[in-house]
Amino acid sequence: MADLTAEVVICGAGIAGIAAAYHLAVTHGMTDVVLVERGAPLSMTSDKSTECYRNWWPGPDDAMVGLMNRSIDLLEQIARRTDNLIGMNRRGYLFATADPTRVPALHRSSKEAERLGAGPLRVHDGRSGGPTYVPGRADGFEGQPDGADLITDPELIREHFPYLSPRTVAVLHPRRCGWFSAQQLGMSMLEEARRRGVRLTRGEVTAIDTASGRVRSVTVATDGGARTISTPRFVNAAGPLLKAVGEILGVELPVVCERHLKLSFNDHLEVVPRGAPLLIWSDDVVLRWSETEREALAASDENRWLLGRLPPGVHCRPEGHGDSRTLLVLWTYDMQPVDPVFPLPITDHFAELVLRGMAVMIPGLAHYLDRIPRPYVDGGYYTKTRENRPLIGPLPIEGGYVVGALSGYGVMAACAAGELLAAHIMGAPLPRYAPAFTLSRYADPSYQKLLENWGDSGQL
Ligand SMILES: Cc1cc2nc3c(=O)[nH]c(=O)nc-3n(C[C@H](O)[C@H](O)[C@H](O)COP(=O)(O)OP(=O)(O)OC[C@H]3O[C@@H](n4cnc5c(N)ncnc54)[C@H](O)[C@@H]3O)c2cc1C
Repeated sequence: MADLTAEVVICGAGIAGIAAAYHLAVTHGMTDVVLVERGAPLSMTSDKSTECYRNWWPGPDDAMVGLMNRSIDLLEQIARRTDNLIGMNRRGYLFATADPTRVPALHRSSKEAERLGAGPLRVHDGRSGGPTYVPGRADGFEGQPDGADLITDPELIREHFPYLSPRTVAVLHPRRCGWFSAQQLGMSMLEEARRRGVRLTRGEVTAIDTASGRVRSVTVATDGGARTISTPRFVNAAGPLLKAVGEILGVELPVVCERHLKLSFNDHLEVVPRGAPLLIWSDDVVLRWSETEREALAASDENRWLLGRLPPGVHCRPEGHGDSRTLLVLWTYDMQPVDPVFPLPITDHFAELVLRGMAVMIPGLAHYLDRIPRPYVDGGYYTKTRENRPLIGPLPIEGGYVVGALSGYGVMAACAAGELLAAHIMGAPLPRYAPAFTLSRYADPSYQKLLENWGDSGQL
């Protein structure tokens, strides 16, 4: 027998579930929202992120740029309203390459991003009369350039980024990008939502009654026993457990999980300046080894791959204020789908490997290879669809919804994703990008065709 009722039950108090609850309660004034969370809010994936944001996304259409521009608008509104409680900066992302043959591709992708709405491209190639490069500011987000700067002028690269490999031939600096505190964002949205009546319940969603094809009630296992909440709507915001919770609802969700690890350590030599942007190496990586190491790796079936070409995308950024010298370093050289297990398994030698990778872009980091100062490794799962676009909207069971598959961009997308999901639930007008994120997109044969030739998925 049902002992509770709700207008909506949301499963998962990660950043996605919290943002959905916030928009239902605060934007639309819904009074009876229950947020069910098996652990502590934000503690599964949302507090493991690098907390970065960007409006720099590939096509084929402008849906991702549209979603992110909207989310960044909302983040900026929150930052303005709260005297920047969320510590938002706009230092940009800096993609660097040592491969001259990649420069035309960088130019092409920048023109594409410009066409999709990410802002204008400025090229700095050393010729006189070109635009002036405006460096990013360490703090704050107002009054900064939009779009991107593509720099191929070697002097300009050395002047602004002297710590990059001297082999660097081009850097691309998209500007509506940076980072902020996802924890502050999540907690402030949760607090506001609770003030507006959202109830947070500790427990695990274990069953959903969907008699005659519509949501009727949700069963939650709590310390005090099973509780049934009578409700016409259920939102799956279960992060890496999206697929499992989809199965409870009887809806197959086309998502996989990838494990992503992150190293933080004390860059006490300040190899990376504290005001640096997010630094990303765009080329494949070949790690440097001593002759003895090389021989040992070559002789090992398990480790020989470390001598080959490894994927691009190793990246880092400074973390913290004041005396902090913390540097975060990430690199997903292994993108095999895995079953999410907790606690997250940590790969042996990850810290050394990721630092070796990062030292290809920033050679000064090799100083730390003998002994990494105060290393700490954590991470979580990216939950992804095949084309790396999220799932936001209704499910084929009446009253069933999903907000998830937020991959490596969930904290930056959360505000717009929660807003979009709430608009679906409330029957409010939907933005132009809404159809690009519904589950029903896969039922469209022309979308299936598009998927066969989907290019860059924009993963970092
Ligand atoms: C290493 C790393 C770096 C990242 N960097 C960035 C970045 O720079 N920028 C960015 O925007 N994003 C980044 N991300 C991605 C971002 O962290 C995620 O996309 C986002 O946190 C996902 O939020 P979520 O709410 O969907 O999932 P989660 O935060 O995992 O929340 C899901 C919640 O559902 C709960 N739950 C699951 N099943 C049940 C159940 N049956 N009953 C009750 N509760 C349940 C879980 O306990 C969990 O709290 C990164 C991720 C990782 C791992």
